[in-house]
Amino acid sequence: MAYKIVEANCTGCGACEFECPNQAISEKGGLFIIDAAKCTECEGAFDSAQCAAVCPVDDTCIPV
Ligand code: SF4
Ligand code: SF4
Repeated sequence: MAYKIVEANCTGCGACEFECPNQAISEKGGLFIIDAAKCTECEGAFDSAQCAAVCPVDDTCIPV
């Protein structure tokens, strides 16, 4: 399981990138993406997914 960023909703604000405990989020050409291979859904590090917690846009960082 991993989270993903819904491209259509992402404003590119970058708030999520440095909150990820696994450095799973990166920016490529103005779009932010989550490397599913690195995403642990924050298990063991935080009580909730930090990307979703800090994202100012609802329904942008979602579990898949
Ligand atoms: S759920 Fe946690 S580990 Fe996964 S991308 Fe978001 S901040 Fe990173
Ligand atoms: S915090 Fe949300 S809107 Fe901002 S770059 Fe991350 S996914 Fe996009």
